[in-house]
Amino acid sequence: VDETPQAATVTPAEPGFAARIRVVEIFGPTIQGEGSLIGLPTIFVRTGGCDYRCAWCDSLHAVLPQYREEWHPMTPGAIVESVRSLAGGRPILVTLSGGNPALQPLEPLIHEGQAQGLTFALETQGSAPRAWFRLLDHLVLSPKPPSSGETCDFRILNECIRAAASAKNRCAITMKVVVFDDADLDFAAQVRDRWCSPALPLVLQVGNPEVAPLAFPVTRALHANTLLRSLATLTEQVLARGWYDVRVLPQLHTLIWGNVRGR
Ligand code: SF4
Repeated sequence: VDETPQAATVTPAEPGFAARIRVVEIFGPTIQGEGSLIGLPTIFVRTGGCDYRCAWCDSLHAVLPQYREEWHPMTPGAIVESVRSLAGGRPILVTLSGGNPALQPLEPLIHEGQAQGLTFALETQGSAPRAWFRLLDHLVLSPKPPSSGETCDFRILNECIRAAASAKNRCAITMKVVVFDDADLDFAAQVRDRWCSPALPLVLQVGNPEVAPLAFPVTRALHANTLLRSLATLTEQVLARGWYDVRVLPQLHTLIWGNVRGR
C-alpha cells in the first residue's frame, strides 16, 4: 500500500519508463508561506497520499482516500511543462508538498526540472527516507508534535537527514516544528537538542487551529489577530528559554489570504 513508509533505497526505474506521480494540484506563482524559504516566490506541486492523519491537517484533500479520484497521475515531463507554463518559462523554486510527497517517485522529476533551470524544495514529516533527497535544493523536515495525534520516530527522521546529507551535498536541510501548546514546545526542545546547529536550523511555526477557508474579510482579520497573539506568546516562550538559535514564524499565506486553497 502506497501510504506505508518504505525503505530509504530507491529501486531505479526501467530505462525509458517514467513512473507516474499522483498530483493533487499545481498552482502558483505564489509565495512560500512557511519555514526557511518564507516569502520566496514559488510554484507548488501538491502530491496525493499521506501515511499520517494529523488532527489539524489543512490539506485533507491530499490525504484522505475519498479524494483519490481528484488526484491525477502525471509524468515528470508533464509536471515540468505545467510549472514552466505557470512561471512563464522563468526559473523558479518548485515546492513539492502533500500529503507526504516522499511517498511519490520524484527522482526523475527533480532531474528533469533541474535540467530546465528549476530548483526544488520538498516538505515532509520525515517518515519515509529516500536516497533521492540528496538531489533536492532544499529539504524541510517537519516532524509532527504531540498535538497532531501522530508519533514521530526520531530514528527514521534521522535517516531522512542522512539521506539528504552527502559529501557532495547541495541540499540545504531545515527542521520545522508547528507549536500549538506546551507539549509541542517540549517536543521542539527535543528536536533542537538532538539536531539543531547552524547547518541544520530549526524554525518554530505558530499552529493554525482554523483549517477552513475564511472567505469574509472580517473573519479573516479576526483569525489573523488570533494567530498574531499566538505568535507573540510563542516568541516570548522562545526568548524565555534562551533559544537564540531558533527562528519563530507565522504562516504568512494564512495571514495574507486566510486559508484559501491555491494560495
Ligand atoms: S503529515 Fe501533513 S499532509 Fe499528512 S496528515 Fe499530517 S499535516 Fe496532513
